[in-house]
Amino acid sequence: MQPTTVTIIGAGPAGSLMGILLARRGFAPMVYERRADMRRTEMAAGRSINLALADRGLHALDRAGVLESVRSLMIPMRGRLLHDLNGVTSLQRYGKDDTEVIYSISRGELNKRLMTEYERISAIAIRFRQSCRGADFARGTLTMLDEQTDSTYELTTSPVIGADGASSALREEMTQAGLSRGSEDVLSHRYKELSIAPGAGGRHQLDANALHIWPRGGFMLIALPNIDGSFTATLFLPAQGPESFESLTTPLIVQKFFARHFPDVVSLIPDLDGDFFTHPTGAMVTVRSAPWHVGDKLLLIGDAAHAIVPFHGQGMNCAFEDCVALSELVDRHMLWETVFDEFERARKPNADAIAKMALENYVEMRDTVRHPKFQLQQALSLELEREHPQHFIPRYSMVMFHHEIPYLRALERGRLQQQLLDDLCEGVDRIDQVNWGKAAALVHTRLPKF
Ligand SMILES: Cc1cc2nc3c(=O)[nH]c(=O)nc-3n(C[C@H](O)[C@H](O)[C@H](O)COP(=O)(O)OP(=O)(O)OC[C@H]3O[C@@H](n4cnc5c(N)ncnc54)[C@H](O)[C@@H]3O)c2cc1C
Repeated sequence: MQPTTVTIIGAGPAGSLMGILLARRGFAPMVYERRADMRRTEMAAGRSINLALADRGLHALDRAGVLESVRSLMIPMRGRLLHDLNGVTSLQRYGKDDTEVIYSISRGELNKRLMTEYERISAIAIRFRQSCRGADFARGTLTMLDEQTDSTYELTTSPVIGADGASSALREEMTQAGLSRGSEDVLSHRYKELSIAPGAGGRHQLDANALHIWPRGGFMLIALPNIDGSFTATLFLPAQGPESFESLTTPLIVQKFFARHFPDVVSLIPDLDGDFFTHPTGAMVTVRSAPWHVGDKLLLIGDAAHAIVPFHGQGMNCAFEDCVALSELVDRHMLWETVFDEFERARKPNADAIAKMALENYVEMRDTVRHPKFQLQQALSLELEREHPQHFIPRYSMVMFHHEIPYLRALERGRLQQQLLDDLCEGVDRIDQVNWGKAAALVHTRLPKF
């Protein structure tokens, strides 16, 4: 396919992985990144330090031939470990057995390895501190700012892959030029990251193989393990209101808030005040835009096209899935316009579906997980999957453990399955009260084979 030079704006997870996949196909992807090289500078603390990597992401890393080079960064998490107000914990398994786990991984370390792999495979250096400031789609040029010299220059290049994240300058340029429309819905809740220190001898102070949740109805705290024995905890809380970031104004108020709602964790966060008042409070946004491409000139991928809220742990996984989808289309078609067109047609409905499921999952994580009905339905789902694996796969599992099931199918199938679970749990309080004969009949009549 001509031309073989491709410009990628953004060396985040999506831009770096896309660079690797294109380099493996003989292209010369030139990657421009606004930030300094994080392999040589200290990372800013307190912003999404670790995240959940699941099957879609693993599959993409494998397809790019880099899974083994990041494996040492991965910590398996076999379920949600819920902490109630009295500090009593209970594990809700994610999957049907220990083969179905998700992994905690440092976003920065993963990104660094992907950058190194990209540079090794392509033999092209990433251009750091180069910020895209504008685009002229008719002429096929980008305006770039070299932040080292504070000078602007014009880049004559196409095609361009915009992997410049949720606040994408390229998406903004498309919107300004009337070439794309959409919305950026900012959630009324915010997040802040706090650090749970390693214990004696660098050991984890909480179960290292679980994603910890302190669900409190209107808000929650979660914690994911790091390989150095620490955990990154994230507080999700309304921006405004009686119990909100706005109301947590002094160290004493913060201490009292944590002592009231998260008593078992306070002693594990050695510098609660420092973390709370120095780490940024982040916003979460759902980006919906279309189209994602301008002819054969530009295509948006990852968060730039479809940022989602983090509650299904799928933003990066979905961005990685984009990269694989795009590289497969490049293998099949000769024209960039066809590739971009097909990409958007295939990915947009799926991006919309995971955006919806991610929003739904916030209520589940902070509230519904505590309810006996939810726990009953979850246990029943796993049992139905064990008994009827060709007909029933829990929705969470479809999203997290089955890259071959598109997000849209998981959403639609999930609705059908939810109706069935509701019917089977009518008037039932415990799993041993379920009518298994009726369950088998309903599963086979209502749910076609996968
Ligand atoms: C609190 C939180 C928790 C999350 N947890 C998970 C999780 O558990 N699992 C999961 O899969 N996802 C998670 N995510 C989402 C995940 O972080 C994103 O989906 C992922 O980082 C998207 O990758 P990206 O490369 O598309 O964008 P980004 O990671 O935003 O990377 C964009 C890159 O482009 C660069 N850039 C930006 N503008 C320009 C410009 N004008 N010129 C040049 N370069 C530019 C940026 O510096 C950056 O390096 C979470 C997000 C948040 C906020």
